[in-house]
Amino acid sequence: MGSRVNELRERRTLDDAGLRELLESSDPVLAEELRRNAREAADEQFGKAVWLRALIEWSNVCRNDCLYCGIRRSNRALPRYSLSREEILECCDRAWRLGLRTFVLQGGENPAAAEALAGTVAEMRASWPEAAITLSLGELPHETYSLLRNSGANRYLLRHETANPAHYARLHPAGMTLQHRLECLHDIRSLGFQTGMGMMVGSPGQTLDDLIADIRLIEAFRPRMIGLGPFIPQHDTPFGSQPAGSAERTLRLYSILRLMQPQAWIPSTTALATLRPDGRKAGILAGANVLMPNFTPSAQRQAYALYEGKARPDAEAVENLNRLKQELDTIGYYV
Ligand code: SAM
Repeated sequence: MGSRVNELRERRTLDDAGLRELLESSDPVLAEELRRNAREAADEQFGKAVWLRALIEWSNVCRNDCLYCGIRRSNRALPRYSLSREEILECCDRAWRLGLRTFVLQGGENPAAAEALAGTVAEMRASWPEAAITLSLGELPHETYSLLRNSGANRYLLRHETANPAHYARLHPAGMTLQHRLECLHDIRSLGFQTGMGMMVGSPGQTLDDLIADIRLIEAFRPRMIGLGPFIPQHDTPFGSQPAGSAERTLRLYSILRLMQPQAWIPSTTALATLRPDGRKAGILAGANVLMPNFTPSAQRQAYALYEGKARPDAEAVENLNRLKQELDTIGYYV
């Protein structure tokens, strides 16, 4: 019992049959063994500390039409917004004063707006020289990535979403390809960004083999950040009536990836916390080491409606930062 877990912890890899067993097994003892080992591996690297990143959802204007995503271009039910330069800087200021040292600007894919954002990124860099600036703006031309990097951004998150090209094609409209996504990831890394990738767990049509391919892709690419959360349907999308992904499977993936890449930054995601009230804590206990409280102004937060339930008012808001700290305290962790 648990020998697969020991092997994974020692060798930092496992064959497909082993991964399959860890993802599928209904044995609670094995599940607990996996979780405990992953948490121990995280404790060895990071102690009892959990890192906070200030999430700023800067715009929901998107040229893409990803079938799962609530801010997809075809969703006419959604009021569109982009935060102004002043609003972004205000969010950063609030976050900095509360002790956060990483700003994450996330938004729909919009190359012209991303290029225009470079000026704001440069201002952020000048005002907070010690802060990490993370971007998550989708697939952009090399020149735009380069401009943003030169403006002072130093991290970039681009989930690959699924490592199976056929599955990728099922989740995205014609014209979007896994190959281009991966080219962007290599481009981003070659520009010196700390790079993050990841996938949705339980997206429509995903098989266990797809998830194993995701793990292999991450294993080969070795990103510094691994962002993954459960798929959650959004009613104005073509996948609106599909079932949500499994929180338990998401947690097992946090644990497996922690054991494979002990030093990675792995956020316990908002999507997990949306599925399970104790999701944030459960994610940390499964080996995640990052939380991303939402600093988007509440007026706009409602409109960044990626999936059902996400816009629950203040679900992960700055107002709840103290509660977040208290929550971590109950499991022996601190910010
Ligand atoms: N446009 C950028 C991009 O494509 O990387 C960043 C924004 S995008 C909305 C951020 C992430 O949200 C996506 O990579 C996707 O994994 C996740 N997401 C979108 N719709 C979702 C859903 N219905 N359930 C769970 N996650 C979702």
